[in-house]
Amino acid sequence: MVQLSVVVPCFNEGEVIDAFHTALLAALGPTGESFEICYVDDGSEDGTLECLRGLARSTAQVRYTSFSRNFGKESAMLAGMRMARGAVVVLMDADLQHPPELLPRMMELHRHGYDQVIAQRDRTGEGALRSTLSRAYYRLVRHFMEVEISDGAGDFRLLSRRAVDSVLSLPENNRFSKGLFSWIGFDTVSFTYEGVERAAGCSKWGGRRLLDYGIDGLLSFNSRPLRLAIHTGLWLFLSALGYALWIVANTVLNGVQTPGYATLITAVVAIGGIQLATLGVIGEYVGRIYHETKRRPHYVVRESDEPDQSDQSEQSEQSDQSAVVRATGLSPASAGRARPEP
Ligand code: UDP
Ligand code: MG
Repeated sequence: MVQLSVVVPCFNEGEVIDAFHTALLAALGPTGESFEICYVDDGSEDGTLECLRGLARSTAQVRYTSFSRNFGKESAMLAGMRMARGAVVVLMDADLQHPPELLPRMMELHRHGYDQVIAQRDRTGEGALRSTLSRAYYRLVRHFMEVEISDGAGDFRLLSRRAVDSVLSLPENNRFSKGLFSWIGFDTVSFTYEGVERAAGCSKWGGRRLLDYGIDGLLSFNSRPLRLAIHTGLWLFLSALGYALWIVANTVLNGVQTPGYATLITAVVAIGGIQLATLGVIGEYVGRIYHETKRRPHYVVRESDEPDQSDQSEQSEQSDQSAVVRATGLSPASAGRARPEP
């Protein structure tokens, strides 16, 4: 069994992947550990796949899988963890923002008995706006979530074999791995390093995508927003009751006065707004249930340098078919029908 598997999700990283690979080999060579590098091409549209094919030809330790389109980093990390055969798995980005020089230190901490080692970046080299927003977000998340997630703990992390197996055993479709890693538990240690700019290329996380990711994170790990809706509703009901009593008392004491339309309208609008928001929250959860019940695979593999890298857990009965597709290049339906002419 290899000691260490390095899992690297890559999406349009053609500019930097060679530099990353060289740096990684330079960091791993001197340690004397046996290792493998599992690259996952997340449907890149630049030359990333070409580069990976080249690396797999030139370096024996390289294995790769390529998706049929962009499925997102979470799916890429999942595919990488499924590929990994090592006793220890390290997840890292391809853009050199996760310095390979830290790997020996992480392995050292693992040898001291930790199942998860997190290398946490400080926020130097990041835009002021983005770091302020991230900090605020993590404060909010910590308040809401049942699992502990810390600011700056990205996906640069080492996991022991049993930690990886636990993460892989979680069946959900919507994967917020920061939460999953924290949920599985085990002894965890983290250390901080100075953040660096990405070596080349650009970040794949625009504002909108980051916002969606944030919402995913908040909702995928708890049902507190639903609880919050109930609390708000109760408080509103109580205050409405108090207000009604006050009006009755006022009428008894002072007689009938002109009714306050402003108050009425305000109340109607406020309550309408809260109802809409609550419906939205419920809708979001219903959407998630819908999504989970479809049980789609997390990704579709276009190409890989090993025989079977399909999304096994959900596809058991489909895997015969996809093997047919891969072997013959036919659609499953026509593959069943196609027979050689007599
Ligand atoms: N990535 C990916 N699929 C995506 C987006 C990103 O596999 O849809 C990879 C990307 O190639 C990189 C890592 O995830 O290796 C982190 O992405 P990026 O550097 O763009 O994120 P940032 O560091 O800005 O948070
Ligand atoms: Mg990056």
